[in-house]
Amino acid sequence: MRTDRPGGTSHIEQAIELAGCRIPYRLRRSSRRRTIALLIDDRGLQVAAPLRASQGAIDALLREHATWVIRKFGDWQRKRPTPRRWIAGEQIMLRGSALTLETCAGIAQARQDGDRLLVNAALATAAMEAAVQRWLKDQALAHFTLRCQTYSSQLGLPAPAVRLSNARTRWGSCHAAGRIRMNWRLIHLPEAWIDYVAAHEVAHLRQMNHSPAFWQTVAALVPDHRERRAALRRDAHRYLLP
Ligand SMILES: [Zn+2]
Repeated sequence: MRTDRPGGTSHIEQAIELAGCRIPYRLRRSSRRRTIALLIDDRGLQVAAPLRASQGAIDALLREHATWVIRKFGDWQRKRPTPRRWIAGEQIMLRGSALTLETCAGIAQARQDGDRLLVNAALATAAMEAAVQRWLKDQALAHFTLRCQTYSSQLGLPAPAVRLSNARTRWGSCHAAGRIRMNWRLIHLPEAWIDYVAAHEVAHLRQMNHSPAFWQTVAALVPDHRERRAALRRDAHRYLLP
């Protein structure tokens, strides 16, 4: 997990013009930094700088790396999903397939009908988002529990208690007491990738480490785990809600 200590850091929204392109960035100053660093994360360009770094030094570094910044910023903009408006016709990803959001009068709870996801037409935007998220989390818990049960029984282990997590930086975790947490957003992704995460966490019930014996256990459950893990890392963002 990423743990940023509060107190020693501050953020400011800034922008610089490079080769005629206006590039917005977040400037993050920290008492712990000694050098200026540029990085592109899921929110765009970030500049990490020591507390006392001058704006001139930051601009100079951005200009020096202008080609990299413009290319990476462009990649990020293309990959970035368009903000969701929560109206009929929008696509909601469930286990790698798109459902079309449809509004419907008088239904109490969101429900799936074939490749449509029906929600109450009377809901305002925020309530509609909450209803869809609640529905997705219900789907997630049911599906993940089933997959973890399947894998734990293949290993001859008791079924673990499965809970949902909301972590930004990890897909799953496993506690020695036999509890597994899986990120509810996995429910958007193809089943093969969900299965990889379930198998990985279930394998930790036997091996609480990432030793060769652990990976052998994962491979017994999901033989092509390497490919699935690589695909998950590379392409998960394409399935996630903004
Ligand atoms: Zn692990």
